[in-house]
Amino acid sequence: MDDTLAPFALRLAAMRLWFGTPAADAVREALASLGLTRAVLLSTASQGDNARRFAEAVGPAIIDVFSGAVMHTPVEVTAEALTFVESVGADAVVSLGGGSTTGLGKAIALNTDLPQIVVPTTYAGSESTAILGQTEGGRKTTITDPRVQPEAIIFDPAMVATLPVALTVTSGLNAIAHAVEALYARDRNPLTSTLATEGLAAMIKGLPEVVAAPDDLTARSRTQYGAFLCGLVLGQVGMSLHHKLCHVLGGSFGLPHAETHAVILPHAVAYNAGAAGDQLAALRALVGEPGRGLQRFAKGLGAPMALRDLGLAAGDLDRATEIALQNQYWNPRPIEQAGLRALLQRAWAGDDTE
Ligand code: NAD
Repeated sequence: MDDTLAPFALRLAAMRLWFGTPAADAVREALASLGLTRAVLLSTASQGDNARRFAEAVGPAIIDVFSGAVMHTPVEVTAEALTFVESVGADAVVSLGGGSTTGLGKAIALNTDLPQIVVPTTYAGSESTAILGQTEGGRKTTITDPRVQPEAIIFDPAMVATLPVALTVTSGLNAIAHAVEALYARDRNPLTSTLATEGLAAMIKGLPEVVAAPDDLTARSRTQYGAFLCGLVLGQVGMSLHHKLCHVLGGSFGLPHAETHAVILPHAVAYNAGAAGDQLAALRALVGEPGRGLQRFAKGLGAPMALRDLGLAAGDLDRATEIALQNQYWNPRPIEQAGLRALLQRAWAGDDTE
């Protein structure tokens, strides 16, 4: 705990949450409690069959399924989904999926104010935030708006148990990244640091368990709990270098979200560890020296190690550095060109952290 209780502010949304309840039952209950009878279920194309089965299990309060969600919430897909929900007279959206599907639900809510119920199937944490990232013309922008905060969230470990192991690992590291950057956030407070510490501990313990036994619902439940706490702090405090770099690599170079987080995290943490000092004590207690320890942890889980394996060309590194330097933001250690370029070079090649 911080020694002194400095003044702090929190954004607490009036959301309802079910943890560990079978998802279809909880969705039915959530819709009924909000007086909603004409929900559209959202999913990605690859989760479409699963979504249709889920809609049947929920019952008549789900009137249709839209399986067009894609990563980084392109505005064209949102426009198509808006036409769809309007044409069927929907009174709510239920997002069954990861951050991409939740992002589509949020974009619909921003435009229509329809209530959202989210059933997360990854560890990305978007359901707990009032943040929406959207892409238009290849540029990703982020807004924070209370209208995009979901009204209800349903965590059912069976829903993440189908996540393939490789995605489980990268998505889990994505959640860990939220908690690590929350520990050294400038606007952190005792509550967010406590949640981040608990979230980290659950993820660091739970992820190896899940990799060893992907169908183990106790381990899935632990990681889902951890990811929930990591998502909560993502919605409360400002993120720094790590998230900004991933935003640039995803938004401007089309790199996949969770995999990019997995590769960048040890390098960004190593860059910041000296400046963050004691703020990373909880992470040190779990993995040892922050950058190296996280890299060892990620490698042990079989995570991708190099941006070049995710499709980034060596020739893109200068431009990525330039874009990342364009918008100044707070970071524990000042962001300077040479250090940032060297970080990206190491992450690109899959080298050890600094
Ligand atoms: P995703 O939602 O894109 O899912 C990745 C792939 O895995 C998709 O093909 C999906 O269909 C599939 N999938 C998801 N869950 C599955 C399951 N249980 N079983 C089988 N397949 C499954 O990936 P993501 O990493 O969760 O989300 C990434 C997106 O979310 C990015 O656009 C990112 O910017 C956004 N995001 C936003 C916030 C926020 O607060 N606004 C937070 C985190 C992530």
